[in-house]
Amino acid sequence: MPPPKTGVLAALTAALADGSVEVVDLTAPLSSGTPVIQLPPEFGQTARFELEEISAYDDRGPAWYWNNFRSGEHTGTHFDAPNHWVTGRGGLDVASVPVGHLVRPAVVLDFSAQCAENPDFLLEVDDIRAWEGQHEPLPEGGWLLYRTGWDARSDSQERFTNADETGPHTPGMSPECARWVAEEAPVIGVGVETVGTDAGTAHSFDPAFPCHSFLMGNGKYGLTQLQNLATLPVTGAVLVVGPLPIVTGSGAPARAVALVEH
Ligand code: MN
Repeated sequence: MPPPKTGVLAALTAALADGSVEVVDLTAPLSSGTPVIQLPPEFGQTARFELEEISAYDDRGPAWYWNNFRSGEHTGTHFDAPNHWVTGRGGLDVASVPVGHLVRPAVVLDFSAQCAENPDFLLEVDDIRAWEGQHEPLPEGGWLLYRTGWDARSDSQERFTNADETGPHTPGMSPECARWVAEEAPVIGVGVETVGTDAGTAHSFDPAFPCHSFLMGNGKYGLTQLQNLATLPVTGAVLVVGPLPIVTGSGAPARAVALVEH
């Protein structure tokens, strides 16, 4: 018998094998039905995800099945790089994000009850301060994951964007809260269950789209259309996120998983 392996990674692989550490998928399935953001018609629009079959064990390729795909960078569960916003112009593109930033601690702030009452709910600094008082400070270099319950709507474009004649109604953060998270909080990014980090009504805020404006402007990241945040512990999870390294890209579809210790 070889001697038992020691060290942190040996302990991790043992814990993964015996189930005491679980891998939780936070990613929305990616298909032509995946909801996408819809901007006012005067702006350019992001593409839905589309598959184009190259061959399927047929005369185009007798032993193999494969596809080309077309997608927006910001389609489905995806990562926002700093250069996505004009405030972060010249900042990191998605391929330049240090890989060490892709494995970081995460905490979950659950405001799904408030968002069920009010789809335009906006998180405030005081809400985060109160959460920190009950739990622990936001993680240095980690992620703030903002649970709103919106993942339950992710199978429907209509329910996900929740638009009426006045525009979309989905939860987000107040401008002051977005500024505080970007400039004062120790986190590297904000993860949400909605189509973007900003509230549906954030086009009318000052500044417009404050989460994008302040996060990107401070070299921080966004992560959107997450699922299963309800299954994560409030503190103590490790987020592993893998955006495609699109050179010069402003973001990318990403697989996001969490390591959770039981
Ligand atoms: Mn985005």
